[in-house]
Amino acid sequence: MAKTLPYATQSIELDDIDAVVRTLKSRWLTTGPVVQEFESRVASFLKADFSVAVSNGTAALHSIMAALDLQEGDEVIVPTLTFVSTANAVVFVGGTPVFADVNGDTLLIDPDDVQKKVGPRTRAVVAMDYGGQPADYAELRKICEVHELVLIGDSCHAFGADYRDEKIGTVADLTAFSFHPTKPITTGEGGLVATNRRTYANFVQRFRNHGITSTHQEREKQGQTSYEMNELGYNYRITDIQCALGISQLTKTEAWIRRRQEIANVYSQEFLDTDGIEPLSSKIDRSHAYHLYVIKLTSDRLSANRDNIIRQLRESGVGANVHYPPVHLQPFYVRLLGGGQGRCPIAESEVKRIISIPMYSSLSQSDQAKVIQQIKKIVARYC
Ligand SMILES: *Cc1c(COP(=O)(O)O)cnc(C)c1O
Repeated sequence: MAKTLPYATQSIELDDIDAVVRTLKSRWLTTGPVVQEFESRVASFLKADFSVAVSNGTAALHSIMAALDLQEGDEVIVPTLTFVSTANAVVFVGGTPVFADVNGDTLLIDPDDVQKKVGPRTRAVVAMDYGGQPADYAELRKICEVHELVLIGDSCHAFGADYRDEKIGTVADLTAFSFHPTKPITTGEGGLVATNRRTYANFVQRFRNHGITSTHQEREKQGQTSYEMNELGYNYRITDIQCALGISQLTKTEAWIRRRQEIANVYSQEFLDTDGIEPLSSKIDRSHAYHLYVIKLTSDRLSANRDNIIRQLRESGVGANVHYPPVHLQPFYVRLLGGGQGRCPIAESEVKRIISIPMYSSLSQSDQAKVIQQIKKIVARYC
């Protein structure tokens, strides 16, 4: 069997390795100067006022939800076509996730459905930049302004993407990123909260450090021998070792995204005139970070065979996958909230048609050509 081309993977180059090794030999492995340097470089890259790095993307989302100070019964609207962690973060803090459907063309959260799901207890809306394409922030912002809701970006797919010439990171009130190896840049495990609001940033800084109000650097500088904890926090710290990798990866973000966009253009050209498949639509007013490349099977006959197609792709060395099983149908959420099938009909039907195919900056032209050839061959069997 041929080597499998994954749907996503990291790029690690020699300078990335050197940066990590230098940090391993330094004084601080965690809570040191490299964490601060990573945060300030990411903040300038995003043109965000504040950035706080944490241990993973889920910790970033948890910190954001905690910053909202939700009361029992408060609701947060989340898309159903996302990773489970978007909704889980709401549950972590005692809130109730309310699932919104997606737009069939882009699989982004549908602002019209969000509008329908706003109720008296709604406190926030989470937009997820599906596949790396920024969500419909202008429409979501309007809804949030009318109902005084906080707009949150789960931008774990979209580090480096732009929305109407602004970097994702400042478009929402609070934005979460993940640096998991499948995401646009990696720190192994890692995450970050970006915001322009000092109170939110300060909250996340405490929340990632047990709720303690000062850092060891501040205590040392001020000659303090004790510290204070006013609220409950967690250990969501990221290490200097991880941040050294992050700093090195950050310098390559734009080049890697350009390469991902090139790969996407080739796929889209190839599938334009291939029977039975079409790419998701991409909007002209935003740049796509292409964490994922997702194709849609256009006929019912094809979608009925979607799992067979994925199995055959995998057998031929193409690491196909599905992002994501709708979260409102997960047994945990059916038990928690009731409901199930029929709540988000577009996501429920579209998810049966989608396949994520290999997309990463180091995908070679010849490997991409093999992927395209296998997809065309296997899909043709069911046309
Ligand atoms: C990856 C991801 C997360 C969680 O990030 P981790 O770093 O794996 O905790 C959350 N939301 C979305 C949409 C993701 O893709």
